[in-house]
Order: sequence, then structure tokens, then C-alpha cells
Amino acid sequence: MDNILIKIEQLKRHYIMGDNIVRAVDGIDLEISRGEFLSIVGKSGSGKSTLMHILGLLDISTDGEFLIEGTNTGEISDEKLSTLRNKYIGFVFQQFNLLSDLNVIENIALPLSYSAVLNEERLEIAAHFAKKVGISDRLYHMPSELSGGQAQRVAIARALVNKPDIILADEPTGNLDSHTSSKIMDLIRMLHEQNNTIIMVTHDSAVAEQADRTITISDGKIISDKSKNALSQKDMIKERNKYEISYEENHLSLRDLLRIGIREGLAAHKTRTLLTMLGIIIGVSSVIAMSSFSIGSKKKQANQIRALGANLVKIQDKKLESEKLTSARMEGSPGLSFRDLNCLKNNLKKEIKNLAYIRDIKMNVLYGEKRINSKIMGVGGDYLQVNNLKILKGRFFNTSDQEESTPVVVLGMRTAEKIMAHAPQETIGKKLLAGGAFYTIVGILEEKNIDFKELEATDLKDPNDTILIPFRTLVARTASIDLRSKIDEIQLQLISEDLLYTAGKTIKRTLKATHAEVDDFSIIIPMDLLKQKQQSQKLLDVLTICISSIALIVGGIGIMNIMLASVIERIREIGIRRAVGASKHDILFQFLSEAVIISVSGGVLGIILAAVGVIAVCLVFEIPIVFSPLMVIVAVFAAVITGLIFGIYPAHQAANQNPVEALRYE
Ligand code: ADP
Ligand code: MG
Repeated sequence: MDNILIKIEQLKRHYIMGDNIVRAVDGIDLEISRGEFLSIVGKSGSGKSTLMHILGLLDISTDGEFLIEGTNTGEISDEKLSTLRNKYIGFVFQQFNLLSDLNVIENIALPLSYSAVLNEERLEIAAHFAKKVGISDRLYHMPSELSGGQAQRVAIARALVNKPDIILADEPTGNLDSHTSSKIMDLIRMLHEQNNTIIMVTHDSAVAEQADRTITISDGKIISDKSKNALSQKDMIKERNKYEISYEENHLSLRDLLRIGIREGLAAHKTRTLLTMLGIIIGVSSVIAMSSFSIGSKKKQANQIRALGANLVKIQDKKLESEKLTSARMEGSPGLSFRDLNCLKNNLKKEIKNLAYIRDIKMNVLYGEKRINSKIMGVGGDYLQVNNLKILKGRFFNTSDQEESTPVVVLGMRTAEKIMAHAPQETIGKKLLAGGAFYTIVGILEEKNIDFKELEATDLKDPNDTILIPFRTLVARTASIDLRSKIDEIQLQLISEDLLYTAGKTIKRTLKATHAEVDDFSIIIPMDLLKQKQQSQKLLDVLTICISSIALIVGGIGIMNIMLASVIERIREIGIRRAVGASKHDILFQFLSEAVIISVSGGVLGIILAAVGVIAVCLVFEIPIVFSPLMVIVAVFAAVITGLIFGIYPAHQAANQNPVEALRYE
């Protein structure tokens, strides 16, 4: 017969239970035509449900053949079986099996999410079938708010939404009182009259009566097969347009995955999920915060160095003593001198922007009776520019001061405060006694706000605590004929920071020549020293990353734990979703997306927490706020990866649940 929808030959389903073999289905031959209304009766344990599960492609026979529309179901993959189940089969169960977290219309629409029906259309279609089964007035109720009869109507509507070829009903009235039961049977009969093929299991003979054909099963075998009226049955079969079975696979859309993940992964157990996220939150926020602080404080240190003179190279005389000094002079090195200055100017014409030179001296300084112990330096060249200093009040030295060796000084702010604590600026015009001569104070330097503790490694001195004298004045007034170098320090300000390294090499070469290869000077590049110091602090960064990774792993384990618990809690849901057409792949992705959503939410919370923390701490400690977008991307990425790694095992467990057992799970 052309109209054969289902053909079964010698179908067997045996369970091996230790030494026993349970023959739940034991050699069934059956042909079911399109448009038939078949009821299957038999004692409890006779194998009815097992047969139904095989017919519904939820279970696989151990032997025999089962063809739908001529397609051998034993030869196709889980994906294709799921597609067939979704599009060609509608299930109605004794226990209704609605998803308790979804409302009526969402439950009815559930199979549509596995068959690529657009979200907007789903609810429309669902509403249509809700009307058909007479449940339109309860669309937004939750399953727990429905009576048994209403719940079964919802389940029937859900079985119908994909316009299946076959409706399988396993004891559809088993949980209903007789009145409701007859109402549901009216509905099923109506569906039959609209040309649906219906296969119904029941142990109620009155219910079975309503079918056209009844087969009786005992011990896994058909013991009788009766048609009420063969002719009328034949009359009723109206041939539907035959169509090719389509295996086009449709999976849950990303939007569906996100929605399920957010609703069931995040919203369903808020406290539990938040606790689970803690590891991720801590890991992500700590790595972002620590890296921001680290980058920020490095930037702050570099900025401070720049504030004390950008692109600075200092050449210091080693101040050799006694024999060493004598032998250096005998080998032909005059120490740091104006010759060096000129050679450097010549060799680094393009690189040098400003240049200064300094001579140190130790002198007792008195203001009246008060001893002032600040550092005294004779300075020449562009000392202010090179050291990024400004005159706050008064003036700096001019050429005539240098030429005429005028006895004038300029004070750093702290020095001025030592003289007049409350009115440091009033010191201008006053006289200091230094080395037995009087010097007039002509200017005061603007104060520098620098944290010198942080710049320890860089050999930069506090300009606030100095007494500056014109270089020539110092030389003229203190000169003594000895072997001492003429200059104690040369300071070069280069055009740009990038030149520091290469210029350093040229300087070394130049000075080696003028110093007859004697090692009596040292070249100091503060920015380089800082970078070296910062380099050595890398360990701290590595440590932070390690700690954050551990937090992420702990967070990941938490997620895995919660997801494993969730698989057990929702085993029934897995069974229901499989029955309406979800493939293993769909279930896998659903649970995976939940895990990823939990960990990414943790990551986002971590980023927010870090942002708040970083902004607060940076404001308090005056560190520049650096919030590296790269770190944020890395953090989100790390959260996704954590979710994937620790979600895959639970998701795999979920996907591999046996759908029949999952549906039986209490
Ligand atoms: P019915 O629906 O007719 O009451 P079932 O099809 O549920 O019967 O069960 C048929 C037989 O198969 C019973 O003896 C039952 O105990 C057995 N059976 C069903 N499922 C399993 C299983 N997963 N493992 C072992 N035996 C099973
Ligand atoms: Mg049963």
C-alpha cells in the first residue's frame, strides 16, 4: 500500500540486566498507514512504552527494522533522528512533561525553536494551536497554575506545532479523571478527523475503543490486531501530498542559546550563580586592577623623571682620590673638563638640545647665626632648561653674573624655607655667608612636587633643597690649584627620548678618547635606570597573572560543579527537549552557553569591580588612571575560555543523557 507511513519488521528491544535479558519488545511486525488512529493496549510492563519510544525515535531497537516513509531509521545519525523527531513526530505523555520555567505559550512553541522558525512567528503559531486545543485563555500562565486537563491540552498543542506526520500519545488520559479524560479524547479524535496519524497507548479499554484499530501487546509481542471497520478506515485516508523527508538540520539559534543561558543559567538561581562566579570575578578584577596599577605607577615614575628634565643624560666625574687621581692624571686624563663639553657638542650636534655643567663644593653656609645645610652647586649653561626648573621669584643668573663672578645665589624652595619658614619668598635680597664670603639671594626656584622615594634608582636629586651659585663665581672664589677635575657633572638634554640609548654610546666613545681611556667618569641616564628597575619588577606582574589564573581555575571548577548539579536537576528537561526534537548537539550547546554566560557575566562584573577600584585607588594615590582596553579584551576572552573549558564536561554529560531514562527520571 502506497500509504504506509511506518513499517516495522521483527523489532526487538532487549535490556541486559546482569545475567538476565529483559525482552521489552520481542519481535514485533507492524505496518501503520497514514491517517490511521491506532491504539496499543496491554498489561503494565508488556512493552508498550518501549515500543512508543522506539516509534518516537527516542530509543533505538536492538534488532529488526523500522522504516518511516521508507527511510530506515537504523541507518541515520542522532542529528537526523532529532530532525525527524522534531518535524515528523509529536509526543504526548501521561505526565504532560511541560517545562516548568516556561509559560503556556512558550511551552507550546518549544519545538519551533529547534526547527528554525523565526522568533516572532513562533508565538503566533503557538497561539494558533493553543486556540485549536482550547487553551487560549491561559497563554501566560505557568504550568504549575494549570489543571491536569489544561496541561494535557498544552502538551497536545506542543505536539502539533510542527504539523507532524505522527502523533504519539502514551497514556494521554492516564493522569486525568474520567470527565477530563473524555474531553481530551474528543480533542484527539478531532485531530484524527483532521487527517492526523495517531498512535495511542492506553490500558483503558473504553479509551482504546475510540480508535479504528487496536493492537494488544503481551510480553513484547503482538497478540491481537483488530480493525473496527476496515472499510471506513480506508475511506478516511486522504492522501496527503507526499514529500521527501528533509534532513535539513536546524539548531538552536544564538539568540535562543543566550536566552536559555541567561534565564536558566543566571536568573534561575541568582545567589548560587553569584557565588559560583566569585572566582571569576576575583580573577578578572585582580588581573585588571593590578595591571592598571602597575602600568599607572610606571607611567607616574616616568612622568616624574620627565618633570625633572626630559631626555636627560648625566656625566659625572668619579672624583678619584690621592694615588688613583694622580695616576689618572699621569695617564693623560684631565677629568671632566670644558674640552669634554666641546667634544660632546661637536659629536652630538643634532642630538643635544640643551646642556649644563655643575661643580660641587662643600661649604659651611650661614644665615646670621643659623647653619643652612643644603647642597651647594656652581651651575653653568642652560641649567634651568635642562632640569626643567623655573624661577618663582626674582631672577636667575645672567651672563654678567658669570663673567664678573658676582656673589649671588638662587635658592630651592626648601632652602628658602630653612631661612624663613613662613615667608620663604622674602629671602630675596638677603645675604648668606658661605665659605667666609657674602652672597646675595637673587632668586627662588619654583617648588617641585616629586616623590623621590620612588625615583631612588635613578640618582636624581631633589632640586628643592639646593643653593645655586654661578659656575664662574664658584670657580673664582674657591679655586685652588690641585688635580681636581674642573667640572663635576655635565648634563645633556637630548632632542628626544628615543635618542637616549644611541647617544649614550656616542658619549661614551667621545669621552673615552678625551680621557685617554681612563675610567674616571660615569654616564647616567635616569630614564634607563628607571626602565631597568621596572624591568626587575616584572616578577610582580607574573605573580599577579599566576594568582589571577588560579582564581579563574577555581572559578571554573565552581562553574563545572554547579553545571554538573544543574544537569542532574534538569535531567527531565533534557528528556523533554530531546523529545521535542533537540539533538545532542543542541543540548551540548545549551549547557555550554550557560557555563559561558555564567563565566562571562563573572568576567564583566570583575571588570566593573576593577574599574571602580582602579579609579578610586588612582584618585587617592594620584596615579594616572590607565585602563587598558587590551586587558579588558583579554579578561573577557579568558572568561569565555574558562566557561568553555569547565563547561564542556557537564555539557557533554547533559548531551549524552539517554532521553528515555531522562523522561522517566523523577
Ligand atoms: P509498559 O509501558 O507496557 O508498562 P515498558 O515498555 O515500560 O512497559 O516496559 C517493558 C519492560 O521492559 C518492563 O519489564 C520493564 O521493566 C522493562 N524495562 C523498561 N525500560 C528498561 C530499562 N531501561 N532497563 C531494563 N528494563 C527496562
Ligand atoms: Mg508505559
